[in-house]
Amino acid sequence: MAIRTLNQHIFRLAGGLVLLSTCAILINVWIANIEHAKEQLAANLEVAESVFKDVLDGREELLFSSVNVITTDYGFRAAVATKDIDTINSVWDSFTKRISADLMSVITLDGMVLASSNDSLPENSLFPYPDLVEQAVKNGGATSLRLIGSKLYQTVVLPVKAPRTVAFTLVGFELDDELLERLKRITQLETSIQVENDLGLTFSASTLSEQRLTEALQQIDSDIPWLSVSLFGDTPYLSKRFLLNARADEEIWITLSENVNRLFNEFNDLLLKITFIACLSIGLSLLFGMLFSRKLSRPLHNLSSVAQKISGGDYEQTFEIRSNTQEIDELSDAFQSMQTNIKERQTQIAYQASHDLLTDLQNRYKISEVLDAKLESRVEFQVVGANILGFRGVNDIFGYANGDRCLQVIAERFKHLGGQSARLNGGEFLWIPESHITVEKLKELQHQIELPIVIDDVVMNVKIAIGMLHCPQDSSDTEEVLRRISITLDEARATEGAMVVYVEQFEQNYLRRLSIISELKQTLWGDSKDLSINYQPKLHMQSGEIRHAEALIRWTNPKLGFVPPDEFIAIAEQAGLIGDVTEWVIRRVIRDVRFMRSKGLSINVAINLSAKDVLNPRLLPSVLAQLELLELPTTCISFEITESDLVADPKRAVDELSRFREAGFSLAIDDFGTGYSSLAYLKSLPVSDLKIDKSFVLKLDTQKGDQNIVQTIIELAHSFDLGVVAEGVENIETLTMLKEWGCEWVQGYHICKPITVESLLEWHSSNIKTDWFH
Ligand code: C2E
Ligand code: CA
Ligand code: CA
Repeated sequence: MAIRTLNQHIFRLAGGLVLLSTCAILINVWIANIEHAKEQLAANLEVAESVFKDVLDGREELLFSSVNVITTDYGFRAAVATKDIDTINSVWDSFTKRISADLMSVITLDGMVLASSNDSLPENSLFPYPDLVEQAVKNGGATSLRLIGSKLYQTVVLPVKAPRTVAFTLVGFELDDELLERLKRITQLETSIQVENDLGLTFSASTLSEQRLTEALQQIDSDIPWLSVSLFGDTPYLSKRFLLNARADEEIWITLSENVNRLFNEFNDLLLKITFIACLSIGLSLLFGMLFSRKLSRPLHNLSSVAQKISGGDYEQTFEIRSNTQEIDELSDAFQSMQTNIKERQTQIAYQASHDLLTDLQNRYKISEVLDAKLESRVEFQVVGANILGFRGVNDIFGYANGDRCLQVIAERFKHLGGQSARLNGGEFLWIPESHITVEKLKELQHQIELPIVIDDVVMNVKIAIGMLHCPQDSSDTEEVLRRISITLDEARATEGAMVVYVEQFEQNYLRRLSIISELKQTLWGDSKDLSINYQPKLHMQSGEIRHAEALIRWTNPKLGFVPPDEFIAIAEQAGLIGDVTEWVIRRVIRDVRFMRSKGLSINVAINLSAKDVLNPRLLPSVLAQLELLELPTTCISFEITESDLVADPKRAVDELSRFREAGFSLAIDDFGTGYSSLAYLKSLPVSDLKIDKSFVLKLDTQKGDQNIVQTIIELAHSFDLGVVAEGVENIETLTMLKEWGCEWVQGYHICKPITVESLLEWHSSNIKTDWFH
């Protein structure tokens, strides 16, 4: 279907309707007119016919009475009887003048013309119509239309009595053009007379020209073609013919013809008027249609350009499209609210696309844009990354709902700092301070953010690692900034205080961490040839005997060389490899214990466990199964756990550790003093020993502060019925001090460095008698 403008539609509708109704009117008028014309024609013809006959009748009566007057005139009768032509003629003169007869003659009894006023009936000729004379004899008079000479006459024949019939008088009026013209004036119809005999047309008179007459006569017997007559007027006359006088030898026809133009004259006028009115109304309707459609289409056009702008993303345009059409106003209002709604939704979508739904902070994408803009503006600024340490643990322990609440609380704390903050993923946040911030201030903020989170009686202690970058010095590229923040956070996690400021070294550290992870994987999942265990003996103070040792892992990699356990253990913990490491250590230690036993050395070896190990439910059954296999008692193995590892999930840790204790293993808290264990917490832990961190012991002989701390720890441990191990004893002075204070075991280079199992066997046998205190 062709697409048209509203204007065109309205134009077509208005014009079409008017045209249609005009046509309907015209057809109706036309039909009515034809009917009317038919009736009028019939009536006209009928009237004309009777008028014609009346005129002839009148003339006949006039003829009769006038001829009667003559034939009763004495003088005339006498003149006729005496055949006195002169007298006859003089009577006629006066008579003819009176009645204006066209023909007068006297016919003798033997049918001869005695006298005549007209040459068409010459004197002394034979009267051509003896039948008329016979009729007059029979009926006392005769009337008839007769062709005399070349003219047609209405004649009356009466006998002239003196007192017998002596002759006949004929008087006639000519049926000439004048008469026809008179009739025409009365009837308004063209009138024609034709006389025909066996030989054909003998007389014709008409108010019509010869050519018109022929046309009029042709039409008579055919049906009238009204359509073409009325539309084209191609038939000039419509005629009716009637027989006036029929005798055996002669017929007289009267033809009455109506002028078609006259008949349809009024109709044509009407047609013209209707056509004019139709044209006028079409014109007007088109004009009003145009005005109306303009009125409609202009606001619609404006609305369509508004819609186009909206579709092009312009939601700010103000438009006030008003018309006096309710629907258009409604449409305009709908557009207005559509624009507002789209704008709102767009803003909402844009907000959601740039914000973290959980915390309402900006997301990674948005903060990247902020960083882009800041870097581009070349101003100096700082970027602070923050990571909730062991956040996955928070989810595991407190459930995801509380994990989410925890993130929300921390997000709130960031928001309060001002500047720009975002959540990158999981427990990782990014903060761009508004103004320069010192490391001291950052530490303060770290503590504020780490404040315990209380949700429905649940207290969550979170540790936040913080890393800071200076831009654009440290990096001028957004992607690089984000990567370096991540590297810095890795460093912070492994750093005391969990807060670092980016230095270039971190890049190398990062790369080293990556290769440590990949190499360690290969080692653990391959033949593990690079790994070994060193044993460091622990001296029992009271007896001076060596009954305990600590297993310490060693890793020398072909590519990386010797990798200190401190370094790769922390990385293994982060990379999720610590379970495999511990499994390997336990297997090797149990084998070595069995070996040492076979060499006569019954020793308890302490194995270091990480937090994940403690929470691994398969670990204890595995250790027990291996011991059982080698027929070893649980007393030949013990475990050391760093207290900070236990803080993440104290309750579950306590449960798991209780199971180790129940199985007969003794447990020590490693690195005691570096964490933040409370006394109450310490009391709830199912441990048997406490290991003072070497940082308090290494310079114990000279550091008064350390002495106080160590002494207090020993007293505290004893008050909880815990045995005390001091590690990092490097000299006799320290050893002596510790003995004095009642420390049960010592471990350190002063006694022995960590050594291989073979060396330990040797060392043990050569030191059985050693007096360690002198
Ligand atoms: P740790 O458990 O505190 O182990 C004691 C560390 O102190 C050992 O370092 C040991 O060599 C060192 N040490 C002992 N006496 C002295 C001394 O008198 N002076 C000095 N300066 N140091 C002394 P190492 O072997 O480098 O181990 C470092 C840390 O690696 C360990 O600290 C432990 O946390 C971890 N680690 C070692 N082996 C294992 C293991 O098999 N499993 C787990 N999970 N961690 C292990
Ligand atoms: Ca240890
Ligand atoms: Ca330690």
